[in-house]
Amino acid sequence: MKKVSFAHMGYSYLGFKQLLEEMGFEVIVPDNPNASTLDRGVQYAPEFACIPFKTVLGTYLEILDRGAEIIITSGGVGPCRAGLYGLLHEKILRNLGYEFDMCVFDPPLTGLWTFFRKLRKILKETNISWLAFIDIVRRAWKKLKLIDELEQLAINIRPYEVKKNDTTRTFNQCLKIVEKARSLYQLDNAQMECRQLLNDIPQDRSRRPLRIGIVGEIYVMLEPFMNLDIEKKLGEMGVIAYRSIYLTNYANSDILSHGTMDIRRIAHPYLNQFVGGHGQNSVGETILYAKNGFDGVIQLAPFTCIPEIVAKSILPKVSRDFGIPVLCLTIDEQTGSAGVETRLEAFIDLLCQRREQMEAKNNESLLFGY
Ligand code: SF4
Repeated sequence: MKKVSFAHMGYSYLGFKQLLEEMGFEVIVPDNPNASTLDRGVQYAPEFACIPFKTVLGTYLEILDRGAEIIITSGGVGPCRAGLYGLLHEKILRNLGYEFDMCVFDPPLTGLWTFFRKLRKILKETNISWLAFIDIVRRAWKKLKLIDELEQLAINIRPYEVKKNDTTRTFNQCLKIVEKARSLYQLDNAQMECRQLLNDIPQDRSRRPLRIGIVGEIYVMLEPFMNLDIEKKLGEMGVIAYRSIYLTNYANSDILSHGTMDIRRIAHPYLNQFVGGHGQNSVGETILYAKNGFDGVIQLAPFTCIPEIVAKSILPKVSRDFGIPVLCLTIDEQTGSAGVETRLEAFIDLLCQRREQMEAKNNESLLFGY
């Protein structure tokens, strides 16, 4: 049985593990990336590569050391360097003496035939039929959607939790329940059980959490190690952090179709061309958050990430035009948790004061009728 692995990205490993196991592979599940994963990646990556490249390289080194024979990864399109990363990772790893197969899947719409040729090669490894594969994909997809739903639910509940860490503990319990569920029926049951568990967390609904939108590059948004667990930090500071990207909505909008046209249309007056990655989304989503009355926006930008650098240069104007405060967090291997926490606290203080001032002004207008 061939040993297969992939890069770690948030909690999606649960879906990919099920998919590959049911296809008949032995799956090497990558560990959560940590400081030593990043250190290993930094050691062999080009200095100016973005941090997702370095972390993923570190993960590949770890899984290859654990015996992975095939690495499955995704490619990319447009000006972002991600399109070359599979190739570059493979070259670096081969130069280090590792023997393995690298299978890079570019979005199907960029080359349907190439996509199916690669898929057929993978299916041949375990002689699985197309029909069986479709059924496996359906169940893995449902699992991924369920994980996204539970993550969102946890984010919405955390700022109200009475006892600190209750939501995180329950969410981790839910992940274990979801991991065990494999059939559609089991996944339906897991969904009901986990919703119940999360909703049963004692909450203080008299609180009025701030609402902050999170925009930025997909890998740093999805991987808690990369974003220094920002959603948990914000939740515990009493903030609902709405993330604009989840894996399944990204797959629907960017992999299986040609991107979110609405967001691009909204961003158009400020950024009228595709700059790769999620640069245009960061601008469009900030405008959307402002229009929907959010208190602020945080942009997560990996250091040297061109799409997010472009967005960052435009966001101050968006912030002024729409009256929404924007905090940009640039993330690299030097970024520390304490520093980020301090900046988040200062940003939240500012947003609280701003909300109080706006409310006082509104009350005054009501009182004096102007
Ligand atoms: S979007 Fe930015 S961080 Fe992500 S791969 Fe491209 S350049 Fe790197």
